[in-house]
Amino acid sequence: MADPIIIGTVALDSLETPFGKVQNILGGSASYASLAASFFSKPGILSIVGKDFPCEHIKFLNGRGINTEGIVLGEKTFRWQGFYEFDMNEAKTLRTELNALESYKVNVPENYKNAKYVFLANIDPELQLAAIKQIKNPELVVMDTMNFWIEHKKKQLLEAIDKSDVIVLNDAEARQLFNTPNLVKAANAALKLHSKSVIIKKGEHGALLFTDKKHFSAPGYPLENIKDPTGCGDCFGGAFIGYLAKTRDLSEANMRKAIIYGSIIASYNAEDFGTKRLQKISHEDIEKRYKEFKDIREF
Ligand code: AMP
Repeated sequence: MADPIIIGTVALDSLETPFGKVQNILGGSASYASLAASFFSKPGILSIVGKDFPCEHIKFLNGRGINTEGIVLGEKTFRWQGFYEFDMNEAKTLRTELNALESYKVNVPENYKNAKYVFLANIDPELQLAAIKQIKNPELVVMDTMNFWIEHKKKQLLEAIDKSDVIVLNDAEARQLFNTPNLVKAANAALKLHSKSVIIKKGEHGALLFTDKKHFSAPGYPLENIKDPTGCGDCFGGAFIGYLAKTRDLSEANMRKAIIYGSIIASYNAEDFGTKRLQKISHEDIEKRYKEFKDIREF
């Protein structure tokens, strides 16, 4: 059985960073998140692509043990075009083409319905809500979003947050969504919306975990070689839930470990364009960086 289930975009991305330019490569929140989760568990994707989507990408995902029976076929694939300047913590969107996403009706396959772990990755919050309604009895629902949906569908987004156990936002999104410059205030506002935990990602500077009693700060990994940060947020969320689905332990201590694994996969992802770097790393690479993370924290 596929677990975790990840709803999000499967996209064709065109982007430019100070280190190069690529066109129509495999992207999307569900692609990155499922790839990251596949290091720990057997994820299943819920999404839509178009007739223009190369089938080699589906083969690639299947080759990683990712279930794609929940990817349906529409007319034209979701496309995103963006760029980064020297501060690569911020993606600048040039164009978002929703295409098939606009008519996507979520229909969760039988084989996904008993999954216990669900990641509502970045996608229209109405689709996140439709997915969560069809999964029978999840133990943990994690959700992510971005400025595009905060601007266009805030009401539905707040509803989706209300149905989630853990919210993952980057610092700019947290400030925008809760209308405050202060991240602690933003996290407390999110905790009031029924979430048990809030994770605020701070790009290369690490991530913060807030629960009603505790607060954890994960360091950023000192990466020397960053080429393309696209998908790092999705990789963080995918590895986080993938690790929790593998260990089936929702204690705060284990969530901290899951955050470190999220940070590790995200840090590797930034080292090359698209999914290139994650295609090459091994479990030994992951454990090597885990030890380095432990070392960075020691004092
Ligand atoms: P990240 O860098 O982790 O925030 O996510 C990058 C991915 O998000 C890219 O591969 C895009 O295809 C995808 N993306 C961009 N805009 C949106 C959007 N409005 N909704 C869902 N996915 C998006």
